[in-house]
Amino acid sequence: MTILAEKIERCTRCRLHEDRKNAVPGEGKDDPFVLLIGEAPGKNEDIEGRPFVGRAGDLLEEILGEVGLNRNDVFITNVVKCRPPDNRDPKKDEINMCNPYLEKQIELLDPEVVVSLGNHATETLVGEKGIGDLHGTELDYDGRTLIPMYHPAAALYNPNLKDTMIKDMKRLKEDHIIQ
Ligand code: URA
Repeated sequence: MTILAEKIERCTRCRLHEDRKNAVPGEGKDDPFVLLIGEAPGKNEDIEGRPFVGRAGDLLEEILGEVGLNRNDVFITNVVKCRPPDNRDPKKDEINMCNPYLEKQIELLDPEVVVSLGNHATETLVGEKGIGDLHGTELDYDGRTLIPMYHPAAALYNPNLKDTMIKDMKRLKEDHIIQ
């Protein structure tokens, strides 16, 4: 994973490298049970070179905490590893250029469960849209269980979505993590 992270940090495959301060390969456990995948680094993530370090990250940690996990128990990354300018959505060609890194991460980390956070990550991974219906359901990603959940940035402004995220995370834990 270290070699892959170094490759990502030096990557110039798409235009997003031009304005980045830091690429954000992702971080967490080397052999995680759960891999969480967001959309793209934001301003704080670009500055620190770490995923989900802003307010959405605080909420994600709070939700993991509800099931007794912290960010060192899982691995957290994004579909694209560099910040899109002005936090715009990543473009299709940027996602395609970055995708081999995500695929390699999934292969190396070999998680039991992949969680796609929000519509963008879910659509990229399983080609399906509509997080309102898909959240909490079990889909297949290349022979692995993939569970879409709301993006924590959406849950920041909507307490109902936060409760739903907590429920989905509790269900993941009950159904998949045997302690
Ligand atoms: N939103 C994301 O999708 N990823 C981050 O790393 C931070 C915010």
